[in-house]
Amino acid sequence: MSDALYKFLLDGEVPERSPVRGEIVSLDSTWRQMRQLHDYPEPVMRTLGELVAASALLTANLKFSGALIMQIHGDGPVPLLVVECNADMTMRATASIAPDAKISADVTFAELMNTGGKGRFAITLDPKDRSQGQQPYQGIVPLEGDSVAAVLGNYMLRSEQLDTQLWLAADSHRATGMLLQRLPLPGGAEHQSPSAVALEIESALETWQRGLAFANTLEKDELLKTDPETLMRRLFWEETLRIFEPMRCSFLCGCSRERVAAMLITLGRGEVEETLAEEGTVHVKCDFCNRSYDFDSVDCAQLFATSNTADGVRPAPGTPH
Ligand SMILES: [Zn+2]
Repeated sequence: MSDALYKFLLDGEVPERSPVRGEIVSLDSTWRQMRQLHDYPEPVMRTLGELVAASALLTANLKFSGALIMQIHGDGPVPLLVVECNADMTMRATASIAPDAKISADVTFAELMNTGGKGRFAITLDPKDRSQGQQPYQGIVPLEGDSVAAVLGNYMLRSEQLDTQLWLAADSHRATGMLLQRLPLPGGAEHQSPSAVALEIESALETWQRGLAFANTLEKDELLKTDPETLMRRLFWEETLRIFEPMRCSFLCGCSRERVAAMLITLGRGEVEETLAEEGTVHVKCDFCNRSYDFDSVDCAQLFATSNTADGVRPAPGTPH
């Protein structure tokens, strides 16, 4: 099935105590719709596609009902990549490229995003529903690693303290990825003797190492060209594999005139009036889906007539609205 995410478990010797969990995602029309909205140089398109696949893998791995936003802030030709994935697996993505950027076809991830070593990777968990008083959480770490997969693996090890590895690939047709995560070593069940616990731990480690060894044989091309079900069975044919019902993924930009209005109010009356004076109308284009929103002087007057906010803070570039 395309545009779907599959969760699976590699069962060890004890049923229901799987030592390894995994996910595979294949985004086809979801990714093509995102990509067709922009005309990015190929290396940027591929890197963004990998981040899109990664966002689906991480979102599905969370027990969380809001949105996961991943940003890579670069210090080179690509200052920003943003991907947002919601708990219902709808997602959107955008990249910004420096105006004078020269991007060759064989550019490396580091040359693209971390030229001076000042790149940053940020993950935001936005609960969306603020009625419970929940606030967004944001973690920012240096860009460690020479690929999107390596950066995320390092981030996960640091934040969740769980061994996690990702394999990602994207081309103009598909964005795909796989995640393997080692689950915490099982504590002994009541009836287990210490030697049985030790054996289970040893066997769990072996399952993880075997899983990794097979997954590490995976080439990007194979990841891109093989459907998820075939891939899971091909890679883990030696294991007891439990595959769950796939989750459907799709492209969706949640931007709206109301959200842009709220963003303009946050920007503040002064800033909005300045733009009105200079350009006659406030023109806002959504970076994710290219939709345009225009606010003339009457619209702007209405915004601030119904809001008491006179001045606000300018949202960071690329902040989803
Ligand atoms: Zn939009």
